[in-house]
Amino acid sequence: MTKWVYSFGNGLNEGRAEMRNLLGGKGANLAEMASIGLPVPPGFTITTDVCSAFYENGRNYPDDLRAQVDAAMQRIETAMGLRFGDENAPLLVSVRSGARVSMPGMMDTVLNLGLNDRTVEGLARSSGDPRFAWDSYRRFVQMYGSVVMGVTHHHFEDVLDQFKRTLGVLDDTAISAAQWREVVGAYHEIIREHTGQEFPSDPQAQLWGAIGAVFGSWMNPRANTYRRLHDIPASWGTAVNVQSMVFGNMGDDCATGVCFTRDPATGEDVFYGEYLINAQGEDVVAGIRTPQPMSNARAEEGQHPMETVLPDAYAELLRVRTLLERHYRDMQDIEFTVQRNVLYLLQTRNGKRTAAAALKISIDMAREGLISKEDAIRRVPATSLDQLLHPALDPKAERIQLTRGLPASPGAASGAVVFTAEECEARAARGEDVILVRVETSPEDVHGMHAARGVLTARGGMTSHAAVVARGMGRVCVAGAGSIHIDYATMVMTIDGHSIAEGDWITLDGSTGAVYLGRVATIPPVLSDDFNTLMGWADSIRRLGVRANAETPDDARTARRFGAEGIGLARTEHMFFGPDRIGHVRQMIIADEEAVRQRAINALLTFQREDFVSIFRIMAGLPVTVRLLDPPLHEFLPHADAEIAEVAAALGRTVEEVRARCAALAEANPMLGHRGCRLGLTNPEIYAMQVRAIIEAALQVSDETGKGIVPEIMIPLVATRAELEVVRRAAEAEIASVLRERGAALDYRIGTMIELPRAAIQAGEIAECADFFSFGTNDLTQTTFGLSRDDAGSFLPFYVDHGLLSKDPFVSIDRDGVGALVRMGSERGRATRPDLKLGICGEHGGDPDSIAFFDEVGLDYVSCSPFRVPVARLAAAQAALAHREENAVA
Ligand code: ADP
Ligand code: MG
Ligand code: MG
Repeated sequence: MTKWVYSFGNGLNEGRAEMRNLLGGKGANLAEMASIGLPVPPGFTITTDVCSAFYENGRNYPDDLRAQVDAAMQRIETAMGLRFGDENAPLLVSVRSGARVSMPGMMDTVLNLGLNDRTVEGLARSSGDPRFAWDSYRRFVQMYGSVVMGVTHHHFEDVLDQFKRTLGVLDDTAISAAQWREVVGAYHEIIREHTGQEFPSDPQAQLWGAIGAVFGSWMNPRANTYRRLHDIPASWGTAVNVQSMVFGNMGDDCATGVCFTRDPATGEDVFYGEYLINAQGEDVVAGIRTPQPMSNARAEEGQHPMETVLPDAYAELLRVRTLLERHYRDMQDIEFTVQRNVLYLLQTRNGKRTAAAALKISIDMAREGLISKEDAIRRVPATSLDQLLHPALDPKAERIQLTRGLPASPGAASGAVVFTAEECEARAARGEDVILVRVETSPEDVHGMHAARGVLTARGGMTSHAAVVARGMGRVCVAGAGSIHIDYATMVMTIDGHSIAEGDWITLDGSTGAVYLGRVATIPPVLSDDFNTLMGWADSIRRLGVRANAETPDDARTARRFGAEGIGLARTEHMFFGPDRIGHVRQMIIADEEAVRQRAINALLTFQREDFVSIFRIMAGLPVTVRLLDPPLHEFLPHADAEIAEVAAALGRTVEEVRARCAALAEANPMLGHRGCRLGLTNPEIYAMQVRAIIEAALQVSDETGKGIVPEIMIPLVATRAELEVVRRAAEAEIASVLRERGAALDYRIGTMIELPRAAIQAGEIAECADFFSFGTNDLTQTTFGLSRDDAGSFLPFYVDHGLLSKDPFVSIDRDGVGALVRMGSERGRATRPDLKLGICGEHGGDPDSIAFFDEVGLDYVSCSPFRVPVARLAAAQAALAHREENAVA
């Protein structure tokens, strides 16, 4: 015989906290609380297996369920000394849903089940309180009518509001028994009217109606949607809890409340919560009356804290608080009821909390000895650290929302709206806060994005250029806000009737995607002592190194502040877009006379050397990987007439000639075109200049600081050993001539990006010419899937929504495909050269799931955007712990 029903309370606890899969979270924890001696009203849980059996069997219950439920009901009757349906002293129960994980969309709880026109009189007599009895009945009819019979809430509420207005009362507790009796009559009528059915008066019918409604709600559209969004399989099913009622609505020595064992917003070790005298169930959260604080310490003038009003029950609750935290070793979210000064517990679960609270609670509990350091590391979700590193909107500030886009890069930022990168940079240089608003961004906007506080785009997804670059820079970004219309001609944008001109202020919340009018106050991030403690613990546990992708002094400084152990990717092309450089870059590309070209290259050499000097200085001897020029040249070319004219004048050419040269450089598919080492091979003087700048800068900073700088020169987009061999030889020749000129010596490394499938496959041969590999997983994902990141927005979401891909492969590494190539590249590379240093520098370097994979594959380090460095440090420690556990099991 299958056991479908598990009892709890009154000395028979058949469940435990570990049985949440079978009993749901609520049922498992009710049994657990009862078994450690806490006052839990007796009841039973119908298992999630019944839910599965119900659906597998055409919505029919297992045959022996009814007998088991009857037996469990009898146990409650015996425990309470009452009988279900008894007209003198009826037992009342609640029917509560409870899945493995708490899930919106599931059936709401029905309280006071078992009441009808006769049992209500019995309850009035047995309690000696007719007001309480009729208050309970009206609540039951309303809950059952809406939750089980499907009559919309507001029909009942309208009647009650009307009734209260006629009586001239505001507070439910002021309504008398006779008056509630009238309301109940009206409620029965509403049900008749809307369903054509009578309200069921038979308690057994009520019970099975409510149980059926819980199981039915598992497959309702709202629950289905929630499950799909959160990857919860339908096969899990929900449990049903039936529990004897305790009453918080029996008078002024009764109450109901919800509390957290610590402050869920800050993590502070104070009792936190709300309660209401003479109330039931969800009254506290329903906003009918204003709830009161728990402790005197948290009470304001005129409030009535539970500590003062119900001192005995409060003292008991404090004892329970400590007991539960010791037992569960985590912060708990508790629901309780006080009936005639006696405390009852109705629910406990691990409390939801902000990132700041998660951090503080973990550190505090580790210090209190409740949990280990390792537990503390496991408990803070790595990505949640993001919230701690960016300024946030002040929750108290008033605001007018304009629209909402995608939360592409977290944090909050206010500033004056500008529509071009140039204007953005100009205003920022004058010390203004600016928000760059574009239909979408491109590499030419990068310098503007850097100058901006935040970026807002009308088009593009979570992996659009704007989103990726903004995250990389730690700039706030709201992407793809479709209701924005930008008119570049008039420099005005309109959003749902609001017209916003250049210079007007807006505020972005990159954590929610909201866009607000004007300036909304923000609160700055603080790297608390707790944060530093956790990072220290993580560092002592992780194996993977963590570097940052950074090319500006600002980013390099941020990276160090957040604990980066070097730079894994400095993209030199970003240095080419600065307003003082781009002219020289354009002349270098367009000039066809050798002398003119060399002059432009020499000018760039000076800039690049300065760039590297400042980065080497900031990184003070930590490794720095510099990638030689990667993007196709046309990305640097002028578009506007004025820019073309400028280049033409500098070169002594006509505008037409320059235009023709630009046109000649256009490519049909530039991402697969003339870029990376292909450029280095056909235009060796560009790479030579960059190599020289790197080496000269390294020599200079080594001299200055006395610390040996070991630059790592990285060649992009290599597909064959031959490519790397030629580029490497040229670089070595240039290095040799610099060292000869200076009469100096310098240690350096030359390596390559592995970002094409062919390179991963040929890694064994390529390693013969490489001192290190860095997996460029952005391009490797594009080229492995054969899909362009910039065009993926129109179909990738469809793939994810329809389960064709479990995740966006640009966000989280595709283990089976792209990941397999990373693994192959690592193994083959190391087979040739066991000391080959292996890193990864794509967006995946900051994604916890991907980091776990890279740890498994045995890479030496990940490199991510500076603001993700703490996330990566924590995720690397979590990965190391997970691997330890696996090894322990194996
Ligand atoms: P949810 O899952 O929405 O939290 P619950 O099943 O926890 O729903 O029920 C909501 C509230 O109803 C509880 O917090 C409690 O106040 C009240 N409640 C549920 N069962 C009982 C009961 N047996 N006695 C008294 N109150 C109850
Ligand atoms: Mg609850
Ligand atoms: Mg690349």
